[in-house]
Amino acid sequence: MKSCATLCPPLPFCVRPQQLVRRGGAGPIGTRLRFPQVSASLSTRYCSATAKIDVADMALRAQDRFLGRRTLFVTGERAEESPNRARYTVFGPHRTDTRASQRRCRHVDHWRPVHAWNEAAIWAILQRYGVIPALPYQLGFGRLSCALCVFMSVDQAATLRHIMPERFAALAVLEQRFGCTMKRECGLHQYADRGRVYGAALARPDLVARALEHQWHGPIVTSRWSMPAGAFGESVGPG
Ligand code: SF4
Repeated sequence: MKSCATLCPPLPFCVRPQQLVRRGGAGPIGTRLRFPQVSASLSTRYCSATAKIDVADMALRAQDRFLGRRTLFVTGERAEESPNRARYTVFGPHRTDTRASQRRCRHVDHWRPVHAWNEAAIWAILQRYGVIPALPYQLGFGRLSCALCVFMSVDQAATLRHIMPERFAALAVLEQRFGCTMKRECGLHQYADRGRVYGAALARPDLVARALEHQWHGPIVTSRWSMPAGAFGESVGPG
């Protein structure tokens, strides 16, 4: 009996992890001239699909090395984060799975190992293995998303305006151009005015500078672990 890999015709290109996979972009640039909506719906909150979910799907679908194999796709959503995430399955076929296909068989399971964990359990296991909390947590953020996430709180907006003023200002300019604010109630600057910059971000400009670097050059583990300033703080973010 042939394995599914032998039944699959090769794709007309070869992709390795180091290479950039490009899709689309041939026609005119499409834009809604609107920010993604602050909504649980992925059709109006299009950033999650476009910037994250579809990117992973494309990587799995576009690389022949996943054909005829079993792949485990692991992500860290937790039920505690939102009612929407509470409904996610802990284990099951990934959206790119084609295990029943005779032509392009790709067996991909999706596992969410910390789905039932609470926040205390997350910090406990990081402490147990001495894993350094990501820098934004050390700067006071309670949950990590994209920088300048559409779900940002007023304190996060104030902190982000403080640590990345140019990028914040650029979004405020887009509000003018779109004639539509990111937050329904007011413009971004007014929104940030209602918040307070996280104390840790004010106190540690060195950490701010490192957090804004594109690559991490420091150690991953430490023998002097401490709970970050953002632990058990605001948990705003995508649902
Ligand atoms: S983290 Fe926020 S801005 Fe980023 S994709 Fe998710 S909802 Fe959109």
